[in-house]
Amino acid sequence: MVKSQYEGYSVGTKHTFAVRENFGNAKVYAQNAQSILNKATGFISAYDFTLNPYRGCQYGCSYCYAAAFSPNSQMREDWGNWVIIKQNAAEVLKKELERWHKKNPDRPPTIYMSSVTDPYQPIETKEQLTRHLLEVMIPYQPTLVIQTRSPMITRDIDILQQFQRLRINMSIPTGSEKVRKDFEPKSPSIPARLKAIAKLKYSFPYQENCEVRFSITVTPLLPILPEDEANFISKLEVVDRVVIQDLHASNDRSLIASTRSEALALKHKYAWWYNSEQQSYRKFKNKLKAMLPDVEIMEGKEGFGYE
Ligand code: SF4
Repeated sequence: MVKSQYEGYSVGTKHTFAVRENFGNAKVYAQNAQSILNKATGFISAYDFTLNPYRGCQYGCSYCYAAAFSPNSQMREDWGNWVIIKQNAAEVLKKELERWHKKNPDRPPTIYMSSVTDPYQPIETKEQLTRHLLEVMIPYQPTLVIQTRSPMITRDIDILQQFQRLRINMSIPTGSEKVRKDFEPKSPSIPARLKAIAKLKYSFPYQENCEVRFSITVTPLLPILPEDEANFISKLEVVDRVVIQDLHASNDRSLIASTRSEALALKHKYAWWYNSEQQSYRKFKNKLKAMLPDVEIMEGKEGFGYE
C-alpha cells in the first residue's frame, strides 16, 4: 500500500482518521465528533452554543484567530490547507437538540454557527454537512446566527426560509479587492459577497412571527483604498446592521484577530492605513454613521448578538 504523504500530519488529533482526499489545495480528514454543540464562551458568550461543522478552514485568512485552535503546531502553521469533516455531526446534533428540548421545552437554544471555521467553505459544496445540520435544526427552531464569508450560503435559502429567528452575518472586512487579495486571497470576491447578502435579504419577505435579520461584519476592518470607500459604504445599506472592529495587536493568549504572522507582515505594506490605525478606524466609523443613517452601526462583541 502506498504511504500517504500526509501520514502522521494529524498526530495528536483525537478520533481523526487518515487523510481521506485532497480538495482543492486542502488535505481533507474526517472525524467523529463527541459533541457538536459547544458551550459558547468569550466573545459570543451570550449564546448557549457554538456549532462548528468543520475544524480548520480552507479560506486561511491571514488574520484568522481560529488557527490557534489547530490540533497541533504543524497544522497551525499550515492553516488554510487542511480541513477536518465532523462526519457524524448531523446525528450528534439531533441527539443534543433532543436532549435540550426535553430539559427546556419552552426555550429553544441560541446557536452561533460558526466561531472557528466557515460553515460554507469550499468542501461544503461536496459534503453538504452544514445543509444537513440546518435540516436537523428546523423542528427545534433555535435562534440561529450564521457567520460566513461565502456566497454558497444562498444555496440553502430554501432551508433558511424555514427558520423563525435567524441572523445572517456576511463577513466583508474591506471594500477593496486588492486588499482582500493580500489579506485573504483564497476567499470569495467582495462583489460576490455583496451580491449574496442582497439576494438573501430579498429572499425573506416579511412574515408575522418571523424575525430574520442581516448583518455585514467588517471585522477586522482592513484597509480600504480611498477610491473604493464611498462605493463600498453605499453597498452596506442593504443590511440592518454593520459591525466593525479594528485589527488588534497580537498577544500570546490572543483569541482576537491578527494572531497570524502573515497579517502582521501585511500591516507594513499598508502602513498608510496602519500608521494611525485608530484614526483610520475612527474616520471609517464616522463615515458609516453619516452615510448609513438607517443602519445600526455596532462595534465588537455587542454586534455579534442576535438581538
Ligand atoms: S473564513 Fe473565518 S474561520 Fe476561515 S480562515 Fe477566514 S477568518 Fe478564519
